[in-house]
Amino acid sequence: MKQSQITYWCHEIIRSQAEEGGYYIDATMGKGNDTLFLCELAREKGKVLAFDIQQEALDVTKELLKTHGKEMQAELILDGHEHMDRYAGKESADVICFNFGYLPGGDHNLATTYRTSIEAIGKGLGILKHGGMMSLCIYSGGDTGFEEKEKILEYVKALPGKEYTVIVNEYYNRKNCPPMPVFIFKE
Ligand code: SAM
Repeated sequence: MKQSQITYWCHEIIRSQAEEGGYYIDATMGKGNDTLFLCELAREKGKVLAFDIQQEALDVTKELLKTHGKEMQAELILDGHEHMDRYAGKESADVICFNFGYLPGGDHNLATTYRTSIEAIGKGLGILKHGGMMSLCIYSGGDTGFEEKEKILEYVKALPGKEYTVIVNEYYNRKNCPPMPVFIFKE
């Protein structure tokens, strides 16, 4: 496997569910790995919006996309994902991808926080089209603590079952707070 298992797995699930050439949102750009993956899925006719609150994330991602000839495919937005409704229309996106936590190698104080994360998930669900999916990769432990994970799990558990299917995955035999991938499918 070329990528870390968690990223690889989330990408494979997204790829298996999403049609190529669609409209995708990366809600946490970071170093651009998910943005690049979504750009590859988008191909020439699709598009990608990507959000981060740090200019460093936009700079690194821009370079990564350039290296792969994908810089025209994505719009990189310096704003919090809790404002994504200002940039994206209702019920339009095929996939919205969240990878919570902090920028690898960056300032841990600029990590995602549960209030804005939950606000963004709620807005994202309104932006997702019917048949679309949201991928959440939740980290916990260490600097991150457990609050964000617990609050997000509480929130997604309360989503109405007739409108959304929520699948929570677990690395069952791994120690040290492994990441938790969650997939939400909008009916
Ligand atoms: N997807 C990234 C990648 O492929 O490298 C990893 C994302 S990283 C774990 C989490 C990112 O979320 C950080 O870059 C951080 O700046 C960003 N972030 C924190 N709060 C945010 C917010 N309110 N809106 C958007 N991004 C935020």
